[in-house]
Amino acid sequence: MGPRVRGDDEKEADVSNQVELTSNNTDNVVIVGGGLAGLFCALKLAPRPVTVISAAPLGQGASTAWAQGGIAAAVAEGDSAEAHAADTIAVGAGLVDEVVALGLAREAGACIRDLLHYGVPFDRDLEGRLAVSREAAHSARRIVHVRGDMAGKAIMSALIEAVRETPSIRVIEGYVADALLTGDGAVTGLQLRRADDPAAAPAIIASRAVVMATGGIGHLYAVTTNPAEASGLGLAIAARAGAVIADPEFMQFHPTAIMVGRDPAPLATEALRGEGATLINDKGERFMPARHPLAELAPRDIVARGVFAEIAAGNGAYLDATDALGANFAEKFPTVYASCMAAGIDPAKQPIPVAPAAHYHMGGIAVDSHGRTSLKGLWAGGEVSSTGAHGANRLASNSLLEAVVYAARIAEDIGGSTIASPSRSPAMSIDPRNAAMPALTETSLRAMMTSHVGVIRDGERLAEAVRSFAAIEREAGNIALRNMATTALLVAASAWTRRESRGAHYRSDHPTEKPALAHRTMTTLVAAREVAASLSERASARSPQPMIA
Ligand SMILES: Cc1cc2nc3c(=O)[nH]c(=O)nc-3n(C[C@H](O)[C@H](O)[C@H](O)COP(=O)(O)OP(=O)(O)OC[C@H]3O[C@@H](n4cnc5c(N)ncnc54)[C@H](O)[C@@H]3O)c2cc1C
Repeated sequence: MGPRVRGDDEKEADVSNQVELTSNNTDNVVIVGGGLAGLFCALKLAPRPVTVISAAPLGQGASTAWAQGGIAAAVAEGDSAEAHAADTIAVGAGLVDEVVALGLAREAGACIRDLLHYGVPFDRDLEGRLAVSREAAHSARRIVHVRGDMAGKAIMSALIEAVRETPSIRVIEGYVADALLTGDGAVTGLQLRRADDPAAAPAIIASRAVVMATGGIGHLYAVTTNPAEASGLGLAIAARAGAVIADPEFMQFHPTAIMVGRDPAPLATEALRGEGATLINDKGERFMPARHPLAELAPRDIVARGVFAEIAAGNGAYLDATDALGANFAEKFPTVYASCMAAGIDPAKQPIPVAPAAHYHMGGIAVDSHGRTSLKGLWAGGEVSSTGAHGANRLASNSLLEAVVYAARIAEDIGGSTIASPSRSPAMSIDPRNAAMPALTETSLRAMMTSHVGVIRDGERLAEAVRSFAAIEREAGNIALRNMATTALLVAASAWTRRESRGAHYRSDHPTEKPALAHRTMTTLVAAREVAASLSERASARSPQPMIA
């Protein structure tokens, strides 16, 4: 017998093979995702009853838990929200919505106070003020952190404890959302499946208010810093239900993921380069000084392209901290040291093999200032959303901030709305065609995202990727794979359409920024499929079927 839930008519139902996960209230709000955005929203909605669905047990499978830097907030003397917004706008390469950036920066202080209230033990200085550190492209020290690099873990454990103590929050762990159910242009519920048994019959949960908080898409790439759960499923199911998607082509790559055969790849933090570690190739030559006056300390996307180009040229890329840190490595960077030593590399004595890795998605489900999407009854917060705050490139440590600010705004918006009672049995939107996930197709999709839709892109390879993802999206017999292909298609089609280089999006066939294209992308799955269809037509026109004599 599977897990049991109590239905609203007080009968208990075995849900292992079915069907309806009802609750004992009539205006159930469902939040999909148990990371920072999802949990913070649930807490802010209390005492209103909510159900949180999380693919993995709380604390696992969420990027939030892995955040090392912290949260950007202009809380130090002499700093200001205006300065924070100006830095955000400068990094975003002309696409940041300035009102959104300023709003975010202004609400940062209140968010930090809220997190303190839930028990997050932010570091303090000797006078008891919040301690702030500096990160690349911030004009002031404004990163609020916990025990050096433990911000994400500390935030998650405080919020999980608060959630477990809040009786109005019901948490369902180990269920994956596969589809949004809709009727008359509005959300009516969700279709779920058990994460540990893809062959089990789908379950349905009825709701007129769904908050998507499923995180990023990094795991669509073969080389990523994101957990496996960040495979773009939330974005896909919103797009399949008709929601508008913004800026999907903008993916930030971290320049120095450690290549020791782990998936996801551990990070060699930027602070190592700040301490003087250099990037070298197989021959021991530094390759960044020729690419940028700031060499290893150039902006993140430029360093990522430098590392990518060196690897693509067959020269390899390594982060060498042997001179800069040597014997002090273990003490100063214990997490990176442990990752290297576990793979048999002593970073005090040897260069660390590195590669750029998919790290943060600036694009996502388009939302307004309340976190509302284009679909009635659907809100989105955190990395799965696109608020306009990041433009074509994210300023470091703005993502946790955005997740908190918008989670609170969504809770306020839902709290002030009347949500209609969910219908008892919304119709299933997709067949439960859960054929086993074909490992090869998933592996090839991820490999193609890295090679064709990665750090350096060009029209020809993007077109090939668009056609391949569209075919998987049409034909996959496994829902998760089909949803991965949906998001991959949106990213690749928008990257193909944007014929310029801007922020994290670099096209070797269009290497400059074009002022006429300084606008955000607003697209839909229908539009992405149209791009795929026209590219397929062009390809078959170029190579017509051989005539049979
Ligand atoms: C290594 C690393 C370091 C980082 N460091 C920083 C930093 O220092 N500062 C900063 O601001 N940002 C940082 N980021 C980015 C930041 O951590 C994320 O953007 C942020 O945590 C996203 O929060 P979220 O709540 O949107 O998503 P997540 O925390 O990823 O949570 C997503 C949740 O959704 C669940 N889920 C996913 N799909 C489904 C589905 N279909 N059905 C049900 N549940 C689902 C997952 O299991 C998870 O519970 C870092 C990211 C990484 C990977």
